Order: sequence, then C-alpha cells, then structure tokens
Amino acid sequence: MALMTPEQFEESLKSLKPRVFMNGKKIENVLENRNTRTVVEANKASYEWALDPRYRDIMTCHSPLIGDVVNRYTHVSANTDDLVKKAQAGTFTAEMLGTCIYRCVGYDAFHSLAATCWEMDRDLGTEYYPRFIEYLKMVQRKDLSVAGALTEPRGKRSQKTIDWPDPFLSLKIVDKNKDGIFVRGAKINISGAFASHEMVVLPQAAHFQGEEDYAVAFAVPTDTKGITYVCQYSPYSAERDAADDMSELGNPRFGQRETSMVIFDNVFVPWDRVFHCGEYKYSVKFVTRFAKTHRMTCGGTCKVGFMNQIIGAARLVQEYKGLEKATHINDELMEMVVLRETGRACGLAAANKGAEEPEGSGVYLPDELMGNVAKLNICNAFWRVMALAGDIGGGLIVTMPSLKELNNPEVKDFVNEFYSFGSQEPTENIMKVHKLLQNWTAGQHGVATWHGAGPVMAQKIMLQRVVNYDHEKNLVKQTLNLK
Ligand SMILES: Cc1cc2nc3c(=O)[nH]c(=O)nc-3n(C[C@H](O)[C@H](O)[C@H](O)COP(=O)(O)OP(=O)(O)OC[C@H]3O[C@@H](n4cnc5c(N)ncnc54)[C@H](O)[C@@H]3O)c2cc1C
Repeated sequence: MALMTPEQFEESLKSLKPRVFMNGKKIENVLENRNTRTVVEANKASYEWALDPRYRDIMTCHSPLIGDVVNRYTHVSANTDDLVKKAQAGTFTAEMLGTCIYRCVGYDAFHSLAATCWEMDRDLGTEYYPRFIEYLKMVQRKDLSVAGALTEPRGKRSQKTIDWPDPFLSLKIVDKNKDGIFVRGAKINISGAFASHEMVVLPQAAHFQGEEDYAVAFAVPTDTKGITYVCQYSPYSAERDAADDMSELGNPRFGQRETSMVIFDNVFVPWDRVFHCGEYKYSVKFVTRFAKTHRMTCGGTCKVGFMNQIIGAARLVQEYKGLEKATHINDELMEMVVLRETGRACGLAAANKGAEEPEGSGVYLPDELMGNVAKLNICNAFWRVMALAGDIGGGLIVTMPSLKELNNPEVKDFVNEFYSFGSQEPTENIMKVHKLLQNWTAGQHGVATWHGAGPVMAQKIMLQRVVNYDHEKNLVKQTLNLK
C-alpha cells in the first residue's frame, strides 16, 4: 500500500531543507517553529486519517495508475463518483482541521494538469501527458504532499504582462538548455508549501503572442535551490509565538492558516518536470480548469466544514448562556445551517454534474456553473455566518482576557465567577469556545474565504461567460406565443 504513516511523513520532511523566513528571521526547521509546525500538523493529520479505518473510505482511493491504494489528495477524478468523494473529503478534512486543507491546491492543480497536458498532446503532438502521469505516479507511490502555486504579484492590471516594466512580476522562463528550464519570478499567498514535499506551479493568467516565456507549468521539490519562502506574519502568528501554552489558542494544533510568498530566483526545472512551455494559447486552460475545480473545493466543500466548527461553537455558547429557548438565536442557528447546506448542495451539484474534459481524456472536472455558484455563494454566506456567530457569542469573543487569568491568584476567582454565565460548565471551557470563535470571526478566515480561489468578480465573469439566457428567453417567447 502506497501510504506513509504520520511518523514517516514527519521523518520525510526532515530530509527537506526549504529556505524559509518569517518575521524577519530565518526558520532553520519548519518542524520546530511554532507557526510552520501547524502546517506540518495539518498535513500529518491527512496521513493519520488515511490509515484510520473510520476515515479510509473518504481519505483514500484506488489508483489505476499504480494499481494501489493512494491518498485521495493525490488522485485525479475519473468519474463523477470520484468528484463526489473529493467534495466529501474536502468537507471532512476542513471540519477536522478547522483550518486550511493545505493539500487541496495541489490536488486541484493535478486535475488541470492532466486535462490540459492531454489536450496539448492531442492538438500539438507534444509529450506532456505521459510526462505528467509519470510525475503523478511518483507522487502516489511515495505518498507525497503537494502544494499548488498560481497567484502572482503582477504589475498594472490594466496592462498586458509583456508591457510591465518589471518582466518578473509574472513568473517567467529565463533560460533553457537540453536538461531543462530556468525560471525567475514569484508566487504569492501560497498555502502551506514549506511543509509539503512538492509544489506544482501553473500560470496565473491567460497569455498571448509574445508572452511565450510566461506560458509555463512545472513541479519542483519544495527545497529546490533558488526557492525562498517569505511567510505571512499576523497577530495570530505573534500570539502563537508568545504563548506559554498552546491550549490557550483558538485552534491549538492546526492554527489559523499559513501562507507565504514563494520566490523563484533562477530555479532550474528538469524537462521531465516541465508540463507547459511556450504554448501560450493553453495557459488560460490551465487557469480555468484549475479555477473550476478549486471553486468547488473552496465554495462547496471546505467552508462547509469550517461552518460546522462555527455552528458547533455558537450552539455551545447558546447552551452556556441558557438561551436554548431564545427564538432569535434558534433562528440564527437555523440560518447558519441553511447557509451551510446551500454551500454543501452547490458543491455536490458541481461534483454530480461534472463531466469528462476534454472528451476522451479520462479526466473529470466539476460543473463550471455550479462550481462558480458554490464559490460566489459562500463568499457572502461565510461573512453572514461569521456575523451570526458574533451575535450569539456576544462581545466576549473580542473582549475576553487571556486564559492565563484563570491561573492568576489575584483575579482567578473573579474571572471564574464572572465569566461562568452562572452555568455548571467550567469557565475554562467557556473561554476556550469563545477563543475558537475569535479565531473564526475576528481572524483571517473572512478575507481568506473571499479571495481564496479568486474574489467574487472572477466568479461573476465566469458565470457571465457560461450563462447565455437562450433557454429563459425561449420560455417567455413560448408562453406568450411571440412571433
Ligand atoms: C488565505 C489564502 C490562501 C491562498 N492560497 C493560495 C495557494 O495555495 N495557491 C495560490 O496559487 N493562490 C493562493 N491564494 C491566492 C488567491 O487565489 C488570491 O488571493 C485571489 O485569486 C485574489 O488575488 P489577489 O489576492 O491578488 O487579489 P486582487 O487580484 O488584487 O484582488 C483585489 C481586488 O482587485 C480586483 N481586481 C483584480 N484584478 C483586476 C482587474 N484586472 N480588473 C478589475 N479588477 C481587478 C479584484 O476583483 C478584487 O476586487 C490564497 C489566498 C488567500 C487569501
């Protein structure tokens, strides 16, 4: 069986030496730094669950490529059942982690790579598809964690890439030889790459004649020479750095969500890891196929899992406060459930209505319309759920003192008394649940949900492309018998 144990996963990361900076300092060991450790823990959990008989069906599947059981996050969907399982795995992983599924971008990028490499070979006679499949087999056999990188710093959005004074604001091929290519540029906001084994890189945008050097997709080990990670640093990072006890934090094991800018400074990529090189007309296909897959994930699966965490915490607070019979609170909880289920339904619809793309490729992608609707819907639904949880939680979500006060001999009795809500629940539990809600409602998740997989305008543009209104217009003409 091609599955690593969680211990083997951790061991395997020790042999990688990514160049990582956070808060102005070099991180010598991503396994030990408190913030990067949360990504190690999140990825490690995906290995735990794949081996757990309770979760095996969702977290693993059979790979026809290597004839063995593989982690689902390394599999390319070959039918709608696979897509539905993919959606369920997204929700399961997100609700268990309560933070980003760091392996999902790579998983979704695999779908785009398989479909588009196959199409380029068919149309152009290139040999990218077998190359990519060999790479994927290696990932499956070794059971590797793979991050995905598309988003670029970019220059003026009103200009074409080729017109930017700094040509490297989009990642670019700078040299080629018989062994491979050299690339320079950066990708930004990349989730969890420094604690993954591999990173797949896709174009961020459509490219045009003259922009051949920007039309590039490839895979690299995360510690390849020339790659540097400059990590995010938020108040939540500082809080984790300063904590005496991780149990004081809103998500003790898996943290908020960790991203970094990834700099490629003349990075060499051997040809057997290059999957797109100059065929500029196909860059947009990499992007749109990734987007439709990732929008199902972000819109209809992982946020459903996140909402379960928020709803669970809001319900506990309702009970602590003795508000079980408060009709408006029950109404708010029900609204949260409806928003969650609408998100789930869109994700499952995108999966169930998925189709082979391109025909004959054997690659199944989610439905464009429903995938985009899933993401667009969740952008607003998530803010609403945050607001409703904020109402139920009250001001304490943002005004609560440190949990350390529960051990401060000068005030601990007062804190225990006055934050108990007069309930039987230990005050420590009440404060921890509020801390979790702080993590969700006053943390990074609102903006992250909005922008991850593209801001709302990106979905609206895509929807405007796929909806033509012919059916609706014809219905009206038929009803009115218009000539
Ligand atoms: C927590 C988090 C994790 C992420 N993880 C990953 C990852 O693992 N891999 C990855 O590749 N990416 C990742 N991303 C990046 C994500 O896909 C982008 O943030 C998203 O696509 C938006 O891009 P941006 O952040 O550059 O915002 P912008 O593109 O700058 O958007 C800001 C505003 O400008 C508008 N705008 C942008 N361009 C135009 C234009 N040409 N014309 C008109 N309006 C425009 C947008 O509609 C929006 O209103 C992550 C993002 C977040 C927040």
